[in-house]
Amino acid sequence: MPTALITGITGQDGYYLTEFLIGRNYHVVGLRRKTSSDHSSTFRHLGNKIDFIYGDLLDTFSMAEAIKKHQPEEVYNLASQSYPGESWRLAIETGEITGLGAHRLFEAVRHVKPDCRIYQASSSEMFGDPQQVPQNENTPFNPMNPYAASKVYAHNLARIYRKSYGMFISCGILFNHESPHRGMHFLTQKVTYGAACAKLGIKNSAALNEVGEPMVKDGKIALGNLDSKRDWGYAGDYAEAMWLMLQHQQSDDFVIGTGQARTIKQFCEAAFSFVGLDWQNYITVDQRFVRPTETGPTVADASKANKILGWKPTTSFTDMVGMMVDNHLNKLKSK
Ligand code: NAP
Repeated sequence: MPTALITGITGQDGYYLTEFLIGRNYHVVGLRRKTSSDHSSTFRHLGNKIDFIYGDLLDTFSMAEAIKKHQPEEVYNLASQSYPGESWRLAIETGEITGLGAHRLFEAVRHVKPDCRIYQASSSEMFGDPQQVPQNENTPFNPMNPYAASKVYAHNLARIYRKSYGMFISCGILFNHESPHRGMHFLTQKVTYGAACAKLGIKNSAALNEVGEPMVKDGKIALGNLDSKRDWGYAGDYAEAMWLMLQHQQSDDFVIGTGQARTIKQFCEAAFSFVGLDWQNYITVDQRFVRPTETGPTVADASKANKILGWKPTTSFTDMVGMMVDNHLNKLKSK
């Protein structure tokens, strides 16, 4: 039975990757922080097939210890301060975790088990304000926020360790992917939660946004730039791509996305029409949520992953949005 170590197991992708790997008979070791919230109920259906251990990307020794003890064949580095919008407020922390944290992990693997295969979670945010549309593995990076700059740092280190030490580190340049397990401060969760609240007539929500105000206030949801375009896929489809990258004979970089860009307005339209409502009655623009510098238009050219790994997304945009709204409706109704 192969062993996989996952950093960031308590996040969205950690959830789907764990499910995927356990379905392939892996022993999964999940690294979580002392401060991580209790996710035992999220993973209950997977029984006792996961070993949770404490560790932190800020602490090289905690990762080295985990690798020494569990001797994983594969390490998936999903841990990150993953919210680009927050990365101006948490600029140094983002660099420490998202950039240097990955570097610390590469060093821990190099010293303890250099034959271990590593997946590094790179991001389409690295393309920032791109010079070509759609973007592929050869598109130059042009990061527009501290999160994206930190991901570029980690991505470059992955390439350097690959070349300098012959380590197997594959980078998945993933475009936005969403699901009911997405963090609540991400735009797609705000919108789908807002649509569910609107359907149920909730005018002031219990859930708070990143500035500590009700996500739905007086029946309205405050967002930033509605014309921004993103390539949104379903997180469950993307876990398989991560695994496929580590099964390939050589380490490489792969762009993963759907190839279809939509505006935030279109996302709002899909979420509110799922519950039979007009989004324009519920969404407002608040300058506090407009990024100082915008990203995009980012849209994936995932033809390399399709050709070499045989990967392609299977869940439609409409189904993914519907799944997220449904999840909020069910949770709100059960309260
Ligand atoms: P997520 O839900 O925000 O999860 C982030 C995870 O990182 C959480 O488990 C968090 O643990 C952990 N973490 C944060 N700081 C840490 C530290 N110092 N030490 C150890 N763990 C730490 O993110 P996601 O959506 O699953 O994304 C997974 C990865 O893919 C991230 O690196 C993200 O930047 C990248 N990515 C995501 C997307 C996307 O659209 N989702 C697109 C491209 C790339 P706690 O529970 O303790 O907070």
